[in-house]
Amino acid sequence: MNLVLLGAPGAGKGTQAKKLVDTYDIVHISTGNILRASVKAGTPLGLEAQSYMDAGELVPDSVVIGLVKERLQEEDAEKGFVLDGFPRTATQAVALTTELDELGRGIDYAIAVEVAPEVIVERLSNRQLCKACGYIGTKGDTSCPVCSGPLHQRDDDNPDTVRNRLEVYTKSTSPLIDYYHGADLLVEVNGDQDPDEVFADIQAVIAP
Ligand code: AMP
Repeated sequence: MNLVLLGAPGAGKGTQAKKLVDTYDIVHISTGNILRASVKAGTPLGLEAQSYMDAGELVPDSVVIGLVKERLQEEDAEKGFVLDGFPRTATQAVALTTELDELGRGIDYAIAVEVAPEVIVERLSNRQLCKACGYIGTKGDTSCPVCSGPLHQRDDDNPDTVRNRLEVYTKSTSPLIDYYHGADLLVEVNGDQDPDEVFADIQAVIAP
């Protein structure tokens, strides 16, 4: 199964991606995670990406498309994948379709997780990530409930950057909902529910 997860920052894409990976034995391809790992490792990709990420801007299409193409060609991606945070622009969406055509593959569903903007701002300012395992928690958690690792707030979850990320989402990424609707691949779910309920709604469509 090949899936794309669409939705504003903080809509719950990462949480749903984890559930999809665990349930359907597919690989999780998060461009945000790949870029953050590159920044941490100080690679040339990370050095190029960091200023865009800190400002809540999109990293240039050519950079992100290149890294997704490489990842899709790895052997484990053959069993299926969930793309989380990619595509984010029309150029990326078209490049993805073209690359998958070349690989003789295609998207099965593009799942849009929908949440009202005021809920997003509240969620992002409360969000805490586990440094060790990537668990997504809230400020109420003192340590990771999964692995007891330390929790921290993402650098780009501060109010100014969040505002910009939401604007960028509205302008560049939300039109992709129409793109996938036109391709008859779109599934819309209400993201303003308990994560298990969101997941049940997704499953009802992709594996009824
Ligand atoms: P995320 O973890 O998906 O919220 O991504 C964090 C940041 O990484 C974004 O605000 C962008 O700066 C960058 N990023 C992640 N995915 C993409 C993408 N597909 N295109 C451009 N920039 C991206």
